[in-house]
Amino acid sequence: MIANVLTEIGVEALNKTFSYKIPEVLKDKIKVGSRVLIPFGPQKIEGFVLSIENLNEENLNYKLKNIIDVVDDFPVLNEELLELGKYISKTTYSTLINAYQVMLPTALKAKEKNKVSIKTKSYIILNKSKNEVKKYIENNKRGKKQNELLLCLLETPKIEKSIFDYSVVKALIEKGYIKIIEEEVYRLDNKISEEKKDIVLTEKQKEITNTIINSINHNDIFLLYGVTGSGKTEVYIEVIKNVLKKGKQAIMLVPEISLTPQMVSRFTNVFGDDIAVLHSGLSNGEKYDEYRKIINGEVNIVIGARSAIFAPLKNIGVIIIDEEHTSSYKQDNHPRYNAIDIAKVRSKTHNCPLILGSATPSLESYARAKKGVYKLLELITRVGKSKLPTVNIIDMKDEIKKGYSTFSRELLKQIEKRLQNKEQIILLLNRRGYSTFITCKDCGFTHKCPNCDISLTYHKTSNTMRCHYCGYADKKLDTCPECGSHELKDLGTGTQKIEEELNKIFPEAKIVRMDVDTTSRKGSHEKIINDFKHEKYDILLGTQMIAKGLDFPKVTLVGVINADTSLNIPDFRSGERTFQLLSQVSGRAGRSDIPGEVIIQTFNPEHYSIILTKTHDYEAFYNKEMFIRKQMSYPPFYYITLVRILSKDYQKGMEASKKISDYLKKNLDVKSIVLGPTTSIMYKINNIYRFQCIIKYKFDNNLDKVLTKILNHYKLDKDINVEIDNNPNKL
Ligand code: ADP
Ligand code: ZN
Ligand code: ZN
Repeated sequence: MIANVLTEIGVEALNKTFSYKIPEVLKDKIKVGSRVLIPFGPQKIEGFVLSIENLNEENLNYKLKNIIDVVDDFPVLNEELLELGKYISKTTYSTLINAYQVMLPTALKAKEKNKVSIKTKSYIILNKSKNEVKKYIENNKRGKKQNELLLCLLETPKIEKSIFDYSVVKALIEKGYIKIIEEEVYRLDNKISEEKKDIVLTEKQKEITNTIINSINHNDIFLLYGVTGSGKTEVYIEVIKNVLKKGKQAIMLVPEISLTPQMVSRFTNVFGDDIAVLHSGLSNGEKYDEYRKIINGEVNIVIGARSAIFAPLKNIGVIIIDEEHTSSYKQDNHPRYNAIDIAKVRSKTHNCPLILGSATPSLESYARAKKGVYKLLELITRVGKSKLPTVNIIDMKDEIKKGYSTFSRELLKQIEKRLQNKEQIILLLNRRGYSTFITCKDCGFTHKCPNCDISLTYHKTSNTMRCHYCGYADKKLDTCPECGSHELKDLGTGTQKIEEELNKIFPEAKIVRMDVDTTSRKGSHEKIINDFKHEKYDILLGTQMIAKGLDFPKVTLVGVINADTSLNIPDFRSGERTFQLLSQVSGRAGRSDIPGEVIIQTFNPEHYSIILTKTHDYEAFYNKEMFIRKQMSYPPFYYITLVRILSKDYQKGMEASKKISDYLKKNLDVKSIVLGPTTSIMYKINNIYRFQCIIKYKFDNNLDKVLTKILNHYKLDKDINVEIDNNPNKL
């Protein structure tokens, strides 16, 4: 018997299987999908068995090496995952091994160096009959501690070893009355913590749930568009209940940052320990254990971030993707898969519905729903008495003139009021983008590319403003063309600085800060959220992290300190991202009976992405944004593929980029648009120069062929690396 093994080495040149002989002793253990240890040159490495052939080695005219060992006692990749890997490899232009590795938790990736063990606990059990033990106790008048232990074991058959003195345990083992057994345990214990709420679904929630349940055996895609606090999560819970009743299973994806204990406990309260939770906050051991719960068939629900979409459930009845517009569902590095695409493939395989939920659906999804490709379900009001908050937009240009640069007078007044009323406040500091753009302090003007309607990026070294889509460059302006002011500046600020300022103005307020600095330690994120929920603080100040999913009934004021940072990021999605962020964070205000208020500080009070958050008018935003996308030939009217060219040598990189761009222009469909080459927005990382071409297309039969040809051409090139990103998040 011969196994064809895909090795752990992820380079393009080795993107194929190697044959090994299966030794007699391993014949029953090695299956398709098994992880095996193999000799490879002078090394021992790991790989996955992709196929097994019933060949007799004598018929071959070369000698095969033996597989050394099988790593796990189950095939790590099942049939569905094996197929899925091929799909990922093909659609993301990555090696097959990279595609398989990304689907698995670290502990199960084919990597010789990864060793995560199964955790066990030691228990004591009786080693003789109960009668013999009783007799021993009667005669053993002086061994009080021994008798205690034995009496316990007569009651409960199995007791943790660590509870008793080891000397006592040892003595009884030597006498043959007890013995020790090892049992596998799972590291993570998803506790039930929150008080249970008994919920009766509203008519609208029921109607939506029924629509979905009726299609449990259909591969329908639903877009559940429901404003923040409209009860989407309760709909998910109800749907899952019904899926389980039918003997099927469920996967639910939520953005990494909203995978809080608060959210998980809403599910554990209903489903108990029928859930595995997968996210990046877990240790490798914990992830391994959660994954084994799935493989061992011990759970029917998987909740997790992006990679949980690969959970090897065997009988999926629904896949739910909450906050479907979140960009982190697309992996940023190799292989660049999008969890929504994977969900579509898997829901098709399992013939089950896929639910995409959001208060601010991505333009792509909403457009599909309007066309009838997705089925649109709507929850347009909040549950119960709570109303969407009132939104107040403050023009910071006026405030700056009066000397209020960080906090407007209105925001200060409202903070003061909430502090007096003992209500809570959330302040959002829009994290700076990765680029520098320049804004006029007096009128809010930003310098944009005439070709792309995208903010230009400031390049300090050359003192120029550049468009990284098309390559347009202009020298940095000294005076504002709109108002003549000389105050053209980079207006970024950090959370720490804001915290200090707040402390000075409100010395009596208790403030907690949540950003990358304060949440790097494990559990710190949860602690801040819990403390805030239990009102240990008055003000939660944070970056984008605080915008999603959190439910604090006492929060009545949300302040956005700088709405413009995300607006000015040079990306065609910046308007959409800003609208989403502002709507999300506004959704944190007034979630109970006391009405909420939102204050948005901006230099662009007329911008539609900002104005339309005032009326919570997603529909109007969608129409306006679609109009622009159409004019500029951006998604969803066109698809975008990014070709990135990487090189240590600037000259060689630039030359290859030009060649690639020419080749694309010549060989793609005439209706496709090729932009570039230009340098990427981060044009040098780790001393590697980055260039890019952007392809816009509606339908291009040649695309895959042309891209594959380019990749193959540079596959073995030492100086040039080419990467393809389909439907990129960032350009
Ligand atoms: P979303 O996921 O759309 O933001 P949630 O499902 O979190 O909304 O609901 C918001 C709040 O309303 C939660 O506290 C939830 O428990 C509560 N809620 C949802 N549906 C109902 C209902 N039918 N009856 C009472 N409370 C509900
Ligand atoms: Zn100006
Ligand atoms: Zn441009």
